[in-house]
Amino acid sequence: MDFIERYVLAAAERGVRELGFTEHLFRCIESKEVLGPFWEDAPTPELRDQTREAILRDRTLSLEDYLGTIKRAKERGLPVLLGLEVDFSPESYGRVLEFLDGYDFDFLIGSVHWIDGWMFDRSAAVPEIRARGARRLFEEYFDVKTRLAARGGVDVLAHTDRCKTMGIVPDEEPLDLYESLVEAASGSGLAIEVSSGGLRQAVGEIYPAPTLLRLFREAGVPITLASDAHYPEQAGWGHDEVVAAARAAGYTEYLRFKQRRRTRIELPDR
Ligand SMILES: [Zn+2]
Repeated sequence: MDFIERYVLAAAERGVRELGFTEHLFRCIESKEVLGPFWEDAPTPELRDQTREAILRDRTLSLEDYLGTIKRAKERGLPVLLGLEVDFSPESYGRVLEFLDGYDFDFLIGSVHWIDGWMFDRSAAVPEIRARGARRLFEEYFDVKTRLAARGGVDVLAHTDRCKTMGIVPDEEPLDLYESLVEAASGSGLAIEVSSGGLRQAVGEIYPAPTLLRLFREAGVPITLASDAHYPEQAGWGHDEVVAAARAAGYTEYLRFKQRRRTRIELPDR
């Protein structure tokens, strides 16, 4: 059994019959020129080096190999879709979208993993999060995420409140920040993912938080279902929890993307 098949089987055991793959653009060697040395924007040499080292360590894949792997899996009849996680920096986004234009993805998801060259979503970031304070981290993160939402260019916003991942959150839920993001996503016609990824991280909560998800639903922003699996065993992990969260927010449907076109599917009964 090959690697892709293992993902498909693990997902199927959890009732997920089709799987979208979304490798990170930044992990592909081809992204070097388009993303540029964005870590140079970090506020201190220490944070700059942290980001540069993390990126260079992970940047070992070939985009062409990835595309070929998923395409061959499709040709063999496996129920997979070809996606990509597009990492957003305001300065490089135009170049990134131009670069991706030549490929035939089923869908693109847009994410924010760094703020001005600082990777805020890993344990090495905790001292800096504490120094800035949770409210300031959320303000800075939501500012970048809202700019991504307003620009559009992708189909789906990934892990919309990623800034909570280390479990350090403001005392009061930042409704003002939520509202700006919801308005931008709605204006661009984007979907958002409901992801179990956060359940496996320090925060122990689905992305997005229940209040944020309800605001998306009230604004008519559609959803996709995600497990953010990094290993075959994680494919479709937390599917029941994701469906329950979507239903609790009032959703009855989710979207499937193929060749960048969306179809609506009813949420399973749980
Ligand atoms: Zn991500």
